[in-house]
Amino acid sequence: MTTHELWQAALGELELSLSKANYTTWFRNTFVSAFEEGRIVVSVPNTFTKAWLEKKYHAAILKALQNVAKDGVREVHYKVELKPSVPQDIGTPIGSPSVATPATAVQAEEEVSEGTKDFSLNPRYTFENFIVGKTNELAHAAALAVAEKPGRYNPLFVYGGVGLGKTHLLQAIGQKMIEMNPRTKVLYVTCERFTNEFIHSVRNGRAKEFKDTYRNLDLLLIDDFQFMTGKEQTQEEFFHTFNALHQSNKQIILSSDRPPKAIQGIEQRIVSRLEWGMLVDVSAPDLETRVAILESKCKEKHCELSREILSYVASAVQSNVRELEGTLNKIIAYHQFKNIKPSLESVRELISTINNAAGSKKNLTPKDLLDTVASYYDLPLPDLLGKCREKRLSFPRQIIMYLMREELNSSYPAIGKMIGGRDHTTAIHAYTKICGDIQEDEKLRHDLVLIRQRLYSAA
Ligand code: ADP
Ligand code: MG
Repeated sequence: MTTHELWQAALGELELSLSKANYTTWFRNTFVSAFEEGRIVVSVPNTFTKAWLEKKYHAAILKALQNVAKDGVREVHYKVELKPSVPQDIGTPIGSPSVATPATAVQAEEEVSEGTKDFSLNPRYTFENFIVGKTNELAHAAALAVAEKPGRYNPLFVYGGVGLGKTHLLQAIGQKMIEMNPRTKVLYVTCERFTNEFIHSVRNGRAKEFKDTYRNLDLLLIDDFQFMTGKEQTQEEFFHTFNALHQSNKQIILSSDRPPKAIQGIEQRIVSRLEWGMLVDVSAPDLETRVAILESKCKEKHCELSREILSYVASAVQSNVRELEGTLNKIIAYHQFKNIKPSLESVRELISTINNAAGSKKNLTPKDLLDTVASYYDLPLPDLLGKCREKRLSFPRQIIMYLMREELNSSYPAIGKMIGGRDHTTAIHAYTKICGDIQEDEKLRHDLVLIRQRLYSAA
């Protein structure tokens, strides 16, 4: 493991135990500049960060490094030093503290997603620790098939809501391919980074370099492809990259929060190419899978929670895996801090505090959603779920399906079933259509705001 990889792995651990805002504020632009005989030097961009890490995060950093380094880390020191190759962000003068007020935290988060976080594969994301359930088994199987035999489904397009394992799967494919053949040229980028690199390369007269890099890969992974919206020049470049790779049977894998057709402002010729290969979706895991995920994460973190507690947490947190994992981390941290053993009571109490702080979004049920939309449009629910295709019914019906996807992360088959036993293709169509309508229809946007308000004030 290089020092870079070591630090990335440690960051991966730290990221889990900190709030996102804290993590991005204090750990971006840090790197390991020396590692000798168990002594690590972590370089940080300014004295303020140095003091903060020493005071607040030293124990966590040491522990994370010890967890990931096989050959032992005994001491950690901090030093103010800028990353040699990374230009300092404009607007963040050296030495000026970036205090974790909400505003800077949000900004830091955005910058990080474009910059430091995404250039290497995170060793935590493997097939081994990806838990398979009904709502991701197709995506998992396709990912594994592609890793084992690249080019079989080309491109592979994985889509679904936030925190459901898309990035995990993409990175697992990259890792697996490298494991099978260390010479495989793999590049993982976020869409944002692809865009930025492309723009910089053009600006600096290095477009050829960009092309040479991207068109000579064995595997190109682009995460969060929905951000390609409206970026015409970058799309043009992506189109040619795609063709070059595809023609030489090199694998392309993309992820997005929605299917290609539902991404607005993407050239038709790109959409049609994305549909050449295989489209697979991931949706929110069912209860059983959530328990299995919690069990696996507990094992990773060497923490023991009773079956009873695991089931309780899994039923309380339904929306996505990232939140599930976040809740688990909070439970661990809370009990460590208080130095008490987790009990069903203490966990229940903690979760209710978290939920109260976060609003009641988590408790929303499909039934709330159906009732709210029906009453908003003043239509009887049985009519909305029925067969009649008049527009006055079919449109609100599509809105229900859209909201089930957006707010509840439900799978298309589940949505179809819930809405009068319809086929999953009807649900996909409804979702895609409303996504499109939203762009053009001001009134619809307004309606959705009001519906959401009712949803969350009622729940
Ligand atoms: P996305 O990219 O879809 O927003 P991520 O891949 O970042 O979601 O997943 C969020 C977190 O949840 C990650 O820590 C990931 O490891 C974890 N996760 C998601 N799905 C699974 C799964 N099926 N098994 C284990 N961990 C998962
Ligand atoms: Mg992701």
